[in-house]
Amino acid sequence: METSKSKVYFTDFKTKSGMNLLDKLEKLVKKAGIQNIDFKNKFVAIKIHFGEPGNLAFIRPNYAAKVVSIIKELGGIPFLTDSNTLYSGRRSNAIDHLDAASENGFNKLTVGCNIIIADGLKGTDYREIEINQKYCKTAKIGTAICDSDIIISMSHFKGHEMTGFGGALKNLGMGSGSRGGKLEMHSASQPKIEKENCTGCRQCIKNCAQGAISLDENKKASIDYEKCVGCGQCVAECMFDAAQIIWNESAVTANEKIAEYAYAVIKDKPSFHISFIMDVSPNCDCWDSNDIPIVPNIGMAASFDPIALDRACVDLVNKAPIIKGSVLDNNEFNNDEDKFTHIHSNTDWESGLKHGESIGMGTQDYELIIVK
Ligand code: SF4
Ligand code: SF4
Repeated sequence: METSKSKVYFTDFKTKSGMNLLDKLEKLVKKAGIQNIDFKNKFVAIKIHFGEPGNLAFIRPNYAAKVVSIIKELGGIPFLTDSNTLYSGRRSNAIDHLDAASENGFNKLTVGCNIIIADGLKGTDYREIEINQKYCKTAKIGTAICDSDIIISMSHFKGHEMTGFGGALKNLGMGSGSRGGKLEMHSASQPKIEKENCTGCRQCIKNCAQGAISLDENKKASIDYEKCVGCGQCVAECMFDAAQIIWNESAVTANEKIAEYAYAVIKDKPSFHISFIMDVSPNCDCWDSNDIPIVPNIGMAASFDPIALDRACVDLVNKAPIIKGSVLDNNEFNNDEDKFTHIHSNTDWESGLKHGESIGMGTQDYELIIVK
């Protein structure tokens, strides 16, 4: 049976007097039909990555401010949001996360709305959304995202060391998962205790619902793996980086789980997705640095279909010339290759898109509509 193509709207970064990049963004999302969503008096979660301080490839707050103003004009009540990270960086709890966002220029004055960290102070504020999929019966999604009426995804399109590339699916799925949810996507097993880091503070013991943790004879936490269900709460609670994730999920499984989490985020509510194909760094914005982009800045794309959007962005990057001095500027890279697989050879980005298609999130079959 022939399936219908999803529409992906695209505009490049060429500007002229009276039509700057923010004007182009507005024109793009309106051509793509964002105004067809009924925003009137609805809470609108704009899911974005505020960037790890030190990394300068994240989406500029100016773009977020434009989307905020469009949503307000359409009667919605927008807020910017992201969930805490699993690893110990500058965004692993709401206080540090808001500080990091502020350092990178995101605050109420610059973006025109409040910022809410979706899974709360320590990443433990989440709801379990029932999805009954291949890996996840439920997905642990940050409460503020669950409570919103509409989801707008703003993703920076770039390479990623685990998923090949990071785009709409990753922004929605991994990005909306609570710390326990992120553990589920990243890992096939229970956490471990790095004894050297453990202070014996008992915080994990108090918060383990399974009673799986106790202090050993050296006053260090110890997990009883017979009782542990791998919920990730101890990783979220530990402030000393002692309760740690075991990064052992296969690339395919991780991508498929991320697609399932993304499905959980958008399954019961209107959503719209925008990707910025600029500063296409080889790695994720979670690193505190960004390498030379692999291709010149390409443009912005928008769609109601996150699968089609991700596929269109991959294709645009793969068609673009490489930048001299980037990681692709070597004798081993040949122009016909998929750039993301060349950079991260153990990844398999297509698995996430295929799985997303199989669970009804969208299609890789798209029509690219150019917005001048
Ligand atoms: S919360 Fe962390 S530091 Fe405290 S006892 Fe547990 S593992 Fe050790
Ligand atoms: S992962 Fe959950 S069940 Fe396992 S030890 Fe940590 S808090 Fe307890």
